[in-house]
Amino acid sequence: MTTWTDRTADLAAGRPLSLAAPSGIDRAAHHRLDEAWLAAAWSHPSTRVFVVSGGQALIDETPDGATELVMTPSFEAPLTEAHRYFLGTDEDGVSYFALQKDTLPGRMDQSARPAGLREAGMLLSPRDAGLMVHAVALENWQRLHRFCSRCGERTVIAAAGHIRRCPACGAEHYPRTDPAVIMAVTDEQDRVLLGRQVHWPEGRFSTLAGFVEPGESIEQAVRREVFEEAGVLVGEVEYVASQPWPFPSSLMLGFMAHATSTEIDVDGDEIHEARWFSRDDLRAAFESGEVMPPYGISIAARLIELWYGKPLPKPSDAL
Ligand SMILES: [Zn+2]
Repeated sequence: MTTWTDRTADLAAGRPLSLAAPSGIDRAAHHRLDEAWLAAAWSHPSTRVFVVSGGQALIDETPDGATELVMTPSFEAPLTEAHRYFLGTDEDGVSYFALQKDTLPGRMDQSARPAGLREAGMLLSPRDAGLMVHAVALENWQRLHRFCSRCGERTVIAAAGHIRRCPACGAEHYPRTDPAVIMAVTDEQDRVLLGRQVHWPEGRFSTLAGFVEPGESIEQAVRREVFEEAGVLVGEVEYVASQPWPFPSSLMLGFMAHATSTEIDVDGDEIHEARWFSRDDLRAAFESGEVMPPYGISIAARLIELWYGKPLPKPSDAL
């Protein structure tokens, strides 16, 4: 039996899930507590360093038209008291670090420019996107967890950015990841259920999504969220793929979900409008401009595409 996961692999052959593709980086976590190893890696001439600040890094175009993170040897990296994150090594033994700073360094040439993950994630290679998403996730966690959640004392960074230690009570705090579910719900007629969030513009539809609550399985979260947001009952759910989503600290768990009811009753709080679309409905709605195709780096577009069976029409196709 072919599963949705198998079909994802086929579909992803030419275009991997953004932010979820193999990055080719070994995180080499066993080095994080080895200060001597880290010092040697930092000063090695092959080591590459980039600065992350406020979720942004500098990107640049290469002569062959690709986009890459702007990285320098460590001796050219900005002198800083800033936080230094060890991100891993590649198959050639090159070590990668990110420096967290309050601002990005001055542009090194005319074309380098700051970009956040929503933009850079679509442009960068899987390696660079993987490095950036790791650094941004660490930065977000560091920024929001400066104080010990047990005793309130200010914590200090350890393990090359991957632990915060409390000098007062000795607690060790680890980066947190908040699971969220995102699902393409289909019915017996093989239509897909898409919703428009209250703060989205007219015509912007996408998959439903929500956070997993304490004491809940991810399958339960899929059923609860779909019922809460759209009033539709869900039976079988099938996991498809996941995607880091550090805005600020989520992990998106993508599902195909099978509805056992079709009547829609939107909650009005999170979802303003929800509709069932057949493939013909969706194509016609894209072409007429009534519905805007999902865009960006989110796994949402890929889930819809998986159901649709081929790449979704791009806005330019409809013009
Ligand atoms: Zn403490």
